[in-house]
Amino acid sequence: MPEEYLKYLQSLNDGQREAACTDISTPLIIVAGPGSGKTSTMVGRVLMLLNEGISPSNILAMTFTTAAASEMRERIGSIAGKTTAKELTISTFHSFSLQLCRSHGEKLGRTSEFFIYGQGQQRNAIIEAIRLLEKEKSGNKNGALLMGDFSNGLKDPKQFKDKAKKWQKFVAQAKASGRTSAEYRAMGNEIGAEILENYNNILKSCNALDYHDLISCSVMLLSDFPEVLKECQGSWKAIVIDEFQDTSGMQYKFLKILASHHKITIVGDDDQSIYSFNGADISGFTSFRNDFPNYKEIRLNKNYRSTRCIVEAASSLIQNNSKRCQLKNVLTDNSSGSKIVMKECHSEDAQCAFVVDKILEISSNHSAENCCFGNIAILYRRQVSGKAFQMAFRDRKIPFNIHGVAFYRRKVVRTIIAMLRTTLPDCDDGSYSRVFKALLPLEKEKKKKITDHINKISTIRKCSFVSAAFDIFSAKISGTFKRSELTHGRKVLMTLEMISKHIQREKSISAVITSVANMIPEKYLLEQRAITDVDGGTFLNEDYDIRSVLQYLLDDVSEFLSTKLVEVKRESEISEDKGCIFVLKAFIDYLFERERENFRDRRRDNENSVTLTTIHQAKGLEWDVVFIVKANDSEIPLLHNFKGTLKDTAALVEEERRLLYVAMTRARQKLFILHVLMDSNWQMLQPSRFLKEIPHHLIEVQGEINLQ
Ligand code: ATP
Ligand code: MG
Repeated sequence: MPEEYLKYLQSLNDGQREAACTDISTPLIIVAGPGSGKTSTMVGRVLMLLNEGISPSNILAMTFTTAAASEMRERIGSIAGKTTAKELTISTFHSFSLQLCRSHGEKLGRTSEFFIYGQGQQRNAIIEAIRLLEKEKSGNKNGALLMGDFSNGLKDPKQFKDKAKKWQKFVAQAKASGRTSAEYRAMGNEIGAEILENYNNILKSCNALDYHDLISCSVMLLSDFPEVLKECQGSWKAIVIDEFQDTSGMQYKFLKILASHHKITIVGDDDQSIYSFNGADISGFTSFRNDFPNYKEIRLNKNYRSTRCIVEAASSLIQNNSKRCQLKNVLTDNSSGSKIVMKECHSEDAQCAFVVDKILEISSNHSAENCCFGNIAILYRRQVSGKAFQMAFRDRKIPFNIHGVAFYRRKVVRTIIAMLRTTLPDCDDGSYSRVFKALLPLEKEKKKKITDHINKISTIRKCSFVSAAFDIFSAKISGTFKRSELTHGRKVLMTLEMISKHIQREKSISAVITSVANMIPEKYLLEQRAITDVDGGTFLNEDYDIRSVLQYLLDDVSEFLSTKLVEVKRESEISEDKGCIFVLKAFIDYLFERERENFRDRRRDNENSVTLTTIHQAKGLEWDVVFIVKANDSEIPLLHNFKGTLKDTAALVEEERRLLYVAMTRARQKLFILHVLMDSNWQMLQPSRFLKEIPHHLIEVQGEINLQ
């Protein structure tokens, strides 16, 4: 064995080493509590596979995020060498299945250039699916425009939006569970079956797949096409999966078919499963034991991350969950550390003031902690809770990084990407509509009037958004608009044509992106300047400056060109001479993956900044000092508008308890848990019901709290 491998294995503890060195033909389960070194163990396992002679190009490692994938590649590269690391396939489920679906697009009734629909495009397809159903039901020729029963009429857009959201969720759940429209019909859910069917047909006619389809289509490719199965099983001789607890039923099905050789290792912690809303299913551990009966299971119970006080408090909390697959007794040799500070604050403002003062105190040179900003994090349940902290930090000049305000969900960035998309064949109407709204130099209301009109004409004429726009602005359709509006419309069409020509000529994708970004009017940028909407919350926008947005994008392009593109090409064997369009398409796929993950990139974090993040985004990370804020019953558990059965509610409460468990176990040295007494509407709030599950002797209460 190479000396570097040996040295690495020696740095592991006995349990970790035993796991890494288990015979590679034995299916292996590593169940490990937080902070027990799962990643280190996975790296060790890959080294053992290499040492046993499995070629790096035959090893597949699955991680939950692309950031985790590149971290793992780096770690393996530093031991086994960069060339070996580059040959490994380290991927997320989604980017892996995307490649597979692209290679076999025609078997899925698509071309290999199919589109992937993001949230917005899915919503449009759902609306269209409802419209079709409505039209069928009402027998009304114009039903497509009236939206009767299901939508409650166009008169109430909010209610209509809620309906569309509800059906979007339904379709997502149907796909995550693998249920077909026939199954819904058999269950008596005729409307659900029809909407699902319509939606699937719409996507097919648009040469598109959505994010859930990627996994289910991959399963279909492996089960229905023996030649695909043979090819994949020939390629992947060993498989390693991290964060197994967040694997969905469909993803597991996929793994099971792929891993018939039994050289499979799964790593996870059922107590940290926090993605059930995305279809994650912890019963996967049980299925694995049944499907791979000669498995070996190794537990790692030693926490290297946190003080004894934090480990004990978190363990006491999680013991209240009744649905735990495997009970773990997490221990640590670390010192007991200081007690967990629990505090009730009158309002969110008071909470903010307390946190700011505390941060300034512990970061000062004179304090015992002398903790730098980069080792501090504020964790919250919902994005919106971060806003007050951003303002306060700005006022008090505390540097901060916001995780989860996803760069690729920012309006300006989405507009640039929509502009790029318009150059690809079969571009979706949503992208065109976004580009029109951005490029028309008019007031918001006027832009809306124009895009609504284009949409209406495209529905009536059953043509695409862009050809309707073309007919309107070239005055083939007689006039709703003033002459100046027509001129503006024509200019937008000319700009689109310019981008398209540019892309056909240009070989460098960076040059294309730069010129596209520069075409965005100043007026639009100024509109976006103060506030950006991101997923249900508004946030101060740091990156309104187009140059910084552009730089960020170009950085990603160069990372993409140096890492991901090689992988894409290797897998799909597409040659370079397809030029910029091919590269652009692959880059947009890559961005899709980043958007899905709400990608946060450590490279861009200022190392000496306080981190502001949701608990979901904090998964796998650690800081010396952690503040869990707004630990109220309305937030964690977040039971807002939840209308499930009692059983569903109980399951949800357990998931929320796991979420708090993940939050608490991010802290190395010091943990603060705060809750507020009153929200901004003067409504009284209760402390989270979970707080009283933390033993008293581990808590230092500041002020008065009644947790009963
Ligand atoms: P989580 O469940 O939160 O994702 P994890 O099990 O993946 O945690 P890691 O993040 O890999 O744990 O490790 C936690 C910390 O423990 C890291 O700082 C890591 O460097 C350290 N660590 C892991 N194994 C060892 C070891 N054998 N000796 C010393 N430190 C270790
Ligand atoms: Mg981890």
